[in-house]
Amino acid sequence: MRHIAIIGSGPAGYYSAEAAQKKFGDEVCVDIIDRLPVPFGLIRTGVAPDHQSIKAVSRRYEKTALGDNVHFIGNVCVGDNISIEELQGLYDAVVLATGAPNDRVLEIPGSDLDGVIGSAAFVGWYNGHPDFRDLDPILDGRSVAIIGNGNVALDVARIMAKTEAEFVGSDIVGHALDQLKDSNIEKITLLGRRGPHQIAMTPKELGELGHLERAKPVVDPLDFPDEGADALLEPGMRKSVTHLRSFFDRAGELREKPVTLDFDFFAMPVAIVGDGKVEKLVVEKTVLDKDLRSKGTGERYEIECSMVVSCIGYRTPPIEGVPYEHGRGRFANEEGRILPGLYCVGWAKRGPSGTIGTNKPDGFAIIDKIAEDIGAGDNKEGRKGLDRLFARRGVETVTFKDWKKIEQAEIDNARDGAPREKFTDVSDMMAAQKI
Ligand code: NAP
Repeated sequence: MRHIAIIGSGPAGYYSAEAAQKKFGDEVCVDIIDRLPVPFGLIRTGVAPDHQSIKAVSRRYEKTALGDNVHFIGNVCVGDNISIEELQGLYDAVVLATGAPNDRVLEIPGSDLDGVIGSAAFVGWYNGHPDFRDLDPILDGRSVAIIGNGNVALDVARIMAKTEAEFVGSDIVGHALDQLKDSNIEKITLLGRRGPHQIAMTPKELGELGHLERAKPVVDPLDFPDEGADALLEPGMRKSVTHLRSFFDRAGELREKPVTLDFDFFAMPVAIVGDGKVEKLVVEKTVLDKDLRSKGTGERYEIECSMVVSCIGYRTPPIEGVPYEHGRGRFANEEGRILPGLYCVGWAKRGPSGTIGTNKPDGFAIIDKIAEDIGAGDNKEGRKGLDRLFARRGVETVTFKDWKKIEQAEIDNARDGAPREKFTDVSDMMAAQKI
């Protein structure tokens, strides 16, 4: 029997578990360990609450989770309740599927002012992540700046721009909905340090901005190259740029919309200014160099704003003793291999890129590597040893069956039209699974 421990119950974790089931059949026991008492990681606390069709992929993970040889073990913090070395002693393979939940740091003066927040915190807040439930973002100002031109920047802008009615059917948490519906925001500026041809936004997500009830996207045609240049773009990017161009001439149609989503291209934030809290963002105009990188021109201007959300990418949190690539913010690895018996997968392996689906081939590939390395297994103890150790340490764990009780309570607590009202406090989750 092979024993595999997967740390992290998000997409990379569950695709790896599915791959192990398919590869080894009954000859494997997979334990999926998560810090929270609830599974699915990024699907629950990263994917936007108004993107329920993307979140539906968790049904596939549930199928895996209900298999006889896969066990969810929630409410366990690796590093606190158990060390990596201890896990390696119990399992043939330990796979880090810990994602990239930490923000890349915005390294400009003033980024420590009140009102400057990272996307992990803002996204976690509206998605009910226990770590960020008390964020209390400043939504009473009229103007907000969002740094970055990726899909997370789009999510953050769209969530800020939507009306209460547009959240029907979503699972945005009550505290965020209440605060957002009273927000005074009229101007949301999305800053890209490069141009429209260098955005990291995908077409579907960009297209959604054209259909918001009270918000209109605004772009400056002068930021765009000649339309002919779009032909050189790869098809997805070409579609995204076509959406951006469709925002050119909609002033009449969109006149009634009071909120603007202002695309500010070739705009590099250089400082945040304010007396204790954000008042202005100082921006330098850029041009592209020959390698299509941004280069400051020295020309500066200011954007008045009461909040800055930095959406410039994520990093995997390092774990003591595990080799780490600081530049790229991920574990140091060769095709997922970190050290003998220790692997990584998904964002923890390749950095925060790609879609949810990108984690599927990643998960299958790491199980192939593990199969090459561990053969039929090494008579490790696996779950039995883990349970004994947790019993000794008094660690209270959560099973998938327990999670289903938490899930049912969240469904029962849902407001009208919503699929669920998430618990945002770990103690409430733990109480719900005891009923
Ligand atoms: P991302 O796609 O890597 O975008 C990061 C953005 O931040 C880029 O525009 C980048 O500009 C900019 N940036 C980086 N450092 C900067 C700095 N110091 N100053 C100013 N701008 C800076 O990251 P993300 O938006 O966090 O998304 C992470 C992953 O999740 C992506 O693969 C994304 O597609 C995925 N995602 C998908 C969805 C969806 O499918 N609906 C939703 C959310 C996220 P440069 O290009 O110039 O570096």
